[in-house]
Amino acid sequence: MAVQREWLEKDYYKVLGVQKSASDKDVARAYRKLAKQYHPDANPGSEERFKEVSAAYEVIGDQAKRKEYDEVRTMSEHGFAGNPFAGGGQGAGAGFSNFRVDDLGDLLGNIFGRGGRRGRSDAATAGAQKGQDIEAELHLSFADAVKGATTTVHVTSEVPCSTCGGSGAAPGSAPTVCQVCGGRGVVNENQGMFSFSHPCVACGGTGMRIEVPCPTCAGHGTEKRARQVKVRIPAGVENGQKIRVPNRGGAGRFGGPAGDLYVVVRTAPHPVFSQKGKDLTIKVPVTFAEAALGTTVSVPTLNGKPVTVKVPAGTRSGKVFRVAGQGVPGAGKSGDLLVTFEVEIPTKLSADEKRAVEALAKASATEGQKLRERLGAEAP
Ligand SMILES: [Zn+2]
Ligand SMILES: [Zn+2]
Repeated sequence: MAVQREWLEKDYYKVLGVQKSASDKDVARAYRKLAKQYHPDANPGSEERFKEVSAAYEVIGDQAKRKEYDEVRTMSEHGFAGNPFAGGGQGAGAGFSNFRVDDLGDLLGNIFGRGGRRGRSDAATAGAQKGQDIEAELHLSFADAVKGATTTVHVTSEVPCSTCGGSGAAPGSAPTVCQVCGGRGVVNENQGMFSFSHPCVACGGTGMRIEVPCPTCAGHGTEKRARQVKVRIPAGVENGQKIRVPNRGGAGRFGGPAGDLYVVVRTAPHPVFSQKGKDLTIKVPVTFAEAALGTTVSVPTLNGKPVTVKVPAGTRSGKVFRVAGQGVPGAGKSGDLLVTFEVEIPTKLSADEKRAVEALAKASATEGQKLRERLGAEAP
């Protein structure tokens, strides 16, 4: 894309021999005439001239491109005349190199942002560099992770330099466009039929040259600083989950966008609850008698208000009951609380209990053998 340099250096109207005010028809007519005249088939040795004419018509023969070309030329003239930093520069492109950054943003925005102006923040300058993505850990309680939380994380990252405001140039000076690459950050090298491009060595690929670097950031445009970032953690995050906070990472350079911040959530396990997607789970122990005869039990919830859950007579160990709406809160539908009843087998029995269990054993003396009948084993 050597286009901007060429646009500034070449007067395409002159090449086609038309006035700047010429109509599209006149431009087309002039081109056809010259193309015939300089066509290499008709006129050997006029190849260069033919190329020039074609290049000129490619731009001012196209209404949209012609408009951009005119704007760029007008702006560059203003740049030469009204630039307080101008002067001293000699040779091709010297005036161009004295553009202030603001002018450049508009200039390049117009060239590359075809079909409408782009904001200055994403002007496609070679110098604009996206900031670094950074990562921060956030420790949340189980309850906060389930309910969601708005909190702050502490990060240390690149921020725009407080002395130069991000330009990298010492106060009172301004970055200039690199004369070697014309602000593109890359240099084309022609080798026979092929053209290679490589990052510009003179400006380190930024497209900008800083004559007097800012003393604080040494021309980098950013400095490292600790800061706090407010983040909103959605309800139901799980341990280890990464939350992306766009544009809260390291500052970009020379008008580039900031990087993103990734918050890695760490949650401690809860002594009672666990999380399974949108649902919370809890294990509730019951005795054999409660499971066999049925009862109602009080089950805690994460919001602190217990709920009453019925244990139907004959509940098996491991049976799960669902308490609607007591899981992870959600904008649409909240999750549920899954209650798993676990029948406890006592390891120690009181005298009373022992008597009762022995009575039960007597009453159900043949039950055990019946249960095991289908296994096909004889009683011992
Ligand atoms: Zn600075
Ligand atoms: Zn350069």
